[in-house]
Amino acid sequence: MAIECLVLGAGQEVGKSCVVVTINGKRIMFDCGMHMGYDDHRRYPDFSLISKSRDFDHSLDCVIITHFHLDHVGALPYFTEVCGYNGPIYMTYPTKALAPLMLEDFRKVLVDRRGEEEQFTSLHISQCMQKVIAIDLKQTLQVDDDLQIRAYYAGHVLGAAMFYAKVGESAMVYTGDYNMTPDRHLGAAQIDRLELDLLITESTYATTIRDSKYAREREFLKAVHECVAGGGKVLIPTFALGRAQELCILLDDYWERMNLKVPIYFSAVHNFDRSLINAPGPCVLFATPGMISGGFSLEVFKQWAPCEMNLITLPGYCVAGTVGHKLMSGKPTKIVLDKDTQIDVRCQSSYRQ
Ligand SMILES: [Zn+2]
Repeated sequence: MAIECLVLGAGQEVGKSCVVVTINGKRIMFDCGMHMGYDDHRRYPDFSLISKSRDFDHSLDCVIITHFHLDHVGALPYFTEVCGYNGPIYMTYPTKALAPLMLEDFRKVLVDRRGEEEQFTSLHISQCMQKVIAIDLKQTLQVDDDLQIRAYYAGHVLGAAMFYAKVGESAMVYTGDYNMTPDRHLGAAQIDRLELDLLITESTYATTIRDSKYAREREFLKAVHECVAGGGKVLIPTFALGRAQELCILLDDYWERMNLKVPIYFSAVHNFDRSLINAPGPCVLFATPGMISGGFSLEVFKQWAPCEMNLITLPGYCVAGTVGHKLMSGKPTKIVLDKDTQIDVRCQSSYRQ
């Protein structure tokens, strides 16, 4: 038995998950993510480490994607359509349905709003997705005579899965992001009792002892309520899916209990009327992307940050280089976006996880 790991991303960092494992002669790429904090060559995994001659079809047996977050799937269209990988790609049905939306959203933000050079097109995304083979949870699938894979429920976002792979007598699990605490939206991760030779697991919060979920929720609601009671506006930067749904349910319940009438907007759902950004009076707004790395959440942040009545609630983790990360590292009074743009920051900020 021989197992070899080539870590192309997310080794000693968060973001750009991509691990190539050789197990009894079979080579699998787990995740094909991008790093949201970089806009140079570090954005994508260095695929040349897999094959110097860039003959990826012969050097990989398959690609497995755990879920639709861009740090797990963001480099896939680039890998298939620009680098030329043509072999099988596996992901669950929901991931297959949602990944192209996330990718297209990201491409638009880069090209339309930031004016960056296009690294893959809409056509690349759809051509890439056509190569994807969908797999059901708990379904065992034979990639070829020797390589068997199975997906397990990860409880992270809709469609997120942990993957088991077996070649001959050797077996392994790669988790991707998973969650053991059920919430209003998703249940806890589930997996069989397995005999493994290798486990590769997500560990972003492994050494963090988190407050109880209940305490965190109470803090979050209290901060939001205090802000709107004082006439402020609350910006909740979120990823389009997953946590956003849960926070929405949480706020909605609370609004009903407290009989609050302050409007809650969800910019991904409402075709958001931009005149509402500066309309008088308090409100709560969910806007993407979560780390305020561009797009609508950044647009609103620019308008709301200078007023001390307002509140920005940040996700638990923000990648280096994003506005979210700058806000989390100390209490900046100014954020420099580029040489022409500076934002005065006088609003409150708080964390949610
Ligand atoms: Zn994730």
